[in-house]
Amino acid sequence: MKRKCLFAVILCISVSTLTFAQKRPRNIIFMIGDGMGLAQVTAALNAGNNHLNFERLPVTGLSKTYSASHIVTDSGAGGTALSSGCKTNNAIVGMNADSLPVESLLAEAKRKRMSTGVVVTSCLTHATPASFLAHNINRRNYEQIAKDMVHSSADVMIGGGRVHFDRRSDSINYVDTLKAMGYRIATTIDECKSVQSDRLVGFIQDTTWTTNREDQSEPWAQAPERGDIHRQSVNVALELLRKNKHGFALMIEGSQIDWACHANDYEYLLAEMADFDRVIGLVLDFAQKDGNTLVVITADHETGGLTLAKDKNDPSVFNPNFSTTGHTGSMVPVYAFGPGAEVFGGIQENTEIKHKIDKLMGW
Ligand code: MG
Ligand code: ZN
Repeated sequence: MKRKCLFAVILCISVSTLTFAQKRPRNIIFMIGDGMGLAQVTAALNAGNNHLNFERLPVTGLSKTYSASHIVTDSGAGGTALSSGCKTNNAIVGMNADSLPVESLLAEAKRKRMSTGVVVTSCLTHATPASFLAHNINRRNYEQIAKDMVHSSADVMIGGGRVHFDRRSDSINYVDTLKAMGYRIATTIDECKSVQSDRLVGFIQDTTWTTNREDQSEPWAQAPERGDIHRQSVNVALELLRKNKHGFALMIEGSQIDWACHANDYEYLLAEMADFDRVIGLVLDFAQKDGNTLVVITADHETGGLTLAKDKNDPSVFNPNFSTTGHTGSMVPVYAFGPGAEVFGGIQENTEIKHKIDKLMGW
């Protein structure tokens, strides 16, 4: 009997060790819906006949978003908490509250010989991607951030903001620098798709785009005009990054969920959420097939203080109301899929997400 018990214990230990050993993901896809609180997801659910790809992620948690300096964070400090696991002051990207550079998930992955990339629907130099690929005390130092990005060693960067690379106050043409470094430069999604090289920068917004109301210097198309460009860009990135046998880390941002909420524009929000959800569908299809990919989706903060009260006349729709044109301090959802996903459940500091990824990756 005792021997049987001992055998059972040994079996349990070996099984749990085996299970743990199987849980190390090879790839990480980190998705950020900028400004995406629970109400934003609920609004999208309602607009999507109560079905979204969000629901395919089996683990859900909550993230506490306050920054080192403010109870309500901005996207600089929020992005840095997610990229580097470090609470910092509002307006800072990729540095701690003492203005010292911190290492991001993408930099760490690169150090582990993984491929890395960012795909965003804002400028590449905007606060969220900047938190992953640059270090600056002010998120609006776009030209300095662009320079950091050129030297970040990221393999794939798709977004806007070419102006910060080749029409600069110092007259340096960093697009030429990127070409000399072996990057292919694409200006349309079709050009991105035809790229065979491992290193790609896609500046695909330079046409008739609308303007980010938060910052007039940053033109980028809203979801309806973009068509399927965001999803296709992510597909291009996945195809290029997956070639590395050491794995890859990719940050994808639904950048304009935040801008729609700053504008208190519900239709714009719904379009951006539907766009982000389509990208989630693609990412989950990839991760499901791959089996070694951890997907984490969260937000840096909520924007707009959106509430979804009942409509007085129509019981089937919400009467959406934004309480601010700024950010709020509400906790935001965290969704996870893939090896180790279960550790992202419960209430956590935004900084813990990165620490959990580190632990799962064995970093
Ligand atoms: Mg952002
Ligand atoms: Zn914002």
